[in-house]
Formats: sequence, structure tokens, C-alpha cells
Amino acid sequence: MPMRRRLDPGDLVLATHNPGKVVELQALVAPHGLGVVSAASLGLPEPEETGDTFIANAELKALGAARGAGLPALADDSGLCVDALGGAPGIYSARWAGPDKDFDEAMARVHEMIGADGPRTAHFICALSLAWPDGHVETVEGRVDGAIVWPPRGSNGFGYDPMFLMNNRTQTFGEMSRAEKEAENHRARAFRLLLPLLPDRA
Ligand code: IMP
Repeated sequence: MPMRRRLDPGDLVLATHNPGKVVELQALVAPHGLGVVSAASLGLPEPEETGDTFIANAELKALGAARGAGLPALADDSGLCVDALGGAPGIYSARWAGPDKDFDEAMARVHEMIGADGPRTAHFICALSLAWPDGHVETVEGRVDGAIVWPPRGSNGFGYDPMFLMNNRTQTFGEMSRAEKEAENHRARAFRLLLPLLPDRA
């Protein structure tokens, strides 16, 4: 098995332009004494997501930011996978909201495509990739299972949160408090797998 590389204390670029993800990733990284720099503040371009898996896209974003900034970078590629739709929107979750990022539209499309009688099971996936300027990359994946509800409920969070009900919960991600959602979602689960690579807690 190849050697896993640990991150030294210092600055880490958050390689995402999605404000909802920046909030969640910042909260996850903060206790580890890492300084956070956003890709947007460095003027780094948002790379085209040409991969055909969450992992490929997370790696492409992390490597692009690490090379562009000359610093280690953390990227997230994530999405909602609906069983009745063969896993769609999946890696196209952001693109289903169109250039205006209209998630009301995207949620309505998911609901209509499932139809009245389709199975409502779904899951969120999050691939997190940590890359260094020399091209080394470490990637993990987290998942949370649940079901699609209609109509959407709650206005917390972002993206498809109001239509996703995690198994064994009564509140959608859109209804949960930030702390509740962030304790157990796909991003937190992926992040836990990265913990052995992070500097010790301050
Ligand atoms: P990408 O990883 O930049 O391609 O975008 C992922 C898209 O998946 C986001 O824009 C959201 O629409 C959706 N998504 C990912 N994670 C979440 C989440 O925690 N809640 C709601 N939607 C999410």
C-alpha cells in the first residue's frame, strides 16, 4: 500500500466556489489549526468538471488549486443520487440547477422524474480530495442514505437539502440546524476518513 501523506500545520486552500460547501468545510477544518484560504480569494479559476466520477472531479479540483496556489488544497465533489433515476443527478447535481443555480427548479425536476409511484430512496455522496503542489493526492468518500420528500421542507443548508430526509430522522437537511446536519452528513463522514492525515488538534 502506498505511503499516506500527512498534512503539516499551515495554510490550506479550500478549492470550492460553492458558499454552502465553504461554510461546512471551514467548520470541519477549523479545529485542526489549519489556516484557510478560499480559492476565490486567490483568484483561482473554477475548473471544468470533466471527470465521470465524484472522485475524479474532486481530484481534478484539488490538484488544480494546489498547483495554482502552491499550497495544499482540499476539494469536495458531491451530489445527490436518486435510485429511481439510475443515480441521477449524481455528478451533475450542480448542473441540474442551471446557470442561475435554481435549486427549486432542480428539486422539482427530480420530483417529477421519480413520478408518483417511483421508489424514493436516495443518497448523497461526497468525495474529498487533499492535494499537494507536487501532485500527491489523497482521496476519501462518504455517503449518507435517505429518501426524497415532496414538497421540500426547510430553508437551512443549500442545494437539495430541503428534499432529503436522512434515514431514521424526521427533519430534512433543510430543517435541521447546521450543527445537526454537519455532524452526520456525507461531507462529515468523508472528513472523518481524512482525520489521520491532518495535523493533531490544536
Ligand atoms: P459540485 O460538487 O460542485 O459538482 O456540486 C455538488 C452539488 O451537489 C451542489 O451544488 C449541490 O447541489 C449538491 N450537494 C452536494 N452536497 C450537498 C448537500 O450537503 N446538501 C445539498 N445539496 C448538496
